[in-house]
Amino acid sequence: MDVLVTGGAGFIGSNFVRYLLDTGDDSVVTLDALTYAGSRDNLAGYLGHPNHRLVEGDIRDRELVDDLVADADVIVNFAAESHVDRSIGGAEPFVSTNVQGTQTLLDAALDADIDRFLQISTDEVYGEIHDGKFTEDDPLAPRNPYSATKAGADLLVQSYRETHDLPTLITRTCNNFGPRQHPEKLIPKFIQRAANGETLPVYGDGSNVREWIYVEDNCAALDVVLREGDIGEVYNIGSGVELSNLETTEKILEAVGGSEDQIEFVEDRAGHDQRYAIDATKTKALGWEPEWSFEDGLDACVDYYLGDEE
Ligand code: NAD
Repeated sequence: MDVLVTGGAGFIGSNFVRYLLDTGDDSVVTLDALTYAGSRDNLAGYLGHPNHRLVEGDIRDRELVDDLVADADVIVNFAAESHVDRSIGGAEPFVSTNVQGTQTLLDAALDADIDRFLQISTDEVYGEIHDGKFTEDDPLAPRNPYSATKAGADLLVQSYRETHDLPTLITRTCNNFGPRQHPEKLIPKFIQRAANGETLPVYGDGSNVREWIYVEDNCAALDVVLREGDIGEVYNIGSGVELSNLETTEKILEAVGGSEDQIEFVEDRAGHDQRYAIDATKTKALGWEPEWSFEDGLDACVDYYLGDEE
């Protein structure tokens, strides 16, 4: 298969490109604008791979996208502005890349002969949930600018399926952690700060709950959905591992050998969703199961971020 992976120099995208090249014989083209969040280093060891090519460019560049889509069987769209706090500071790049960028890819896919268009989305599009878990049939109710733009993209993708019969799929995954995540995100940031003896700033009272999946488990699930998923469907990808932000912080301190005195409660994030949790039954029915425990994934992260492993 010829796979066009957008955002493939970012955290999850680079792990997915590596996963594809390690596990199969697909030809992969990575399209990435190399914003502050993307890096060639994330693809180190794979830049000269015979089945891989990195193209530095923007998913909003229609001419470039047309050229790349013409040679692709499938498109996997990871490219996005992805940091909630930055979206609160300014939503423009989020609307531009996450919504308009997705529209550019969809239009290019319409004009080409694409077998599958996989949109990478997030559990955040459902908004917060106090009891139970979100299924794919729940309505979208995003509550911050980042998740609103991701929901906008999801709706556009679904509209191209309905009105143009484009062969689309959508995945909505919970919080990922693992190697090659930007240090602005909670787990890498806290590992480094804990090891340096710095404070770990926890929003509010730390009671907000997130579901965490190790990135390799997510990549395996995305691969299964890409190949086995039913066209037009949405698939939730979750681990079932739910932790409050305070519990996550305590586990990081334990793994790094830091002190609980390093915890510092700071003013809560505006519009901070209390809890996310998703039901992944539909993805599991395709034959996928998560394999990593949170603790094993965290140990792997500690090794990676503290420089003990490539
Ligand atoms: P990331 O910020 O690490 O990577 C995003 C990548 O997209 C970067 O390499 C960046 O350079 C690239 N990019 C940004 N704008 C671009 C543009 N206009 N054109 C081309 N490339 C561009 O993000 P991530 O955490 O790897 O997330 C990847 C995708 O997965 C996103 O769509 C995100 O919404 C989704 N997602 C992330 C998580 C998570 O926990 N990280 C969970 C669920 C879904």
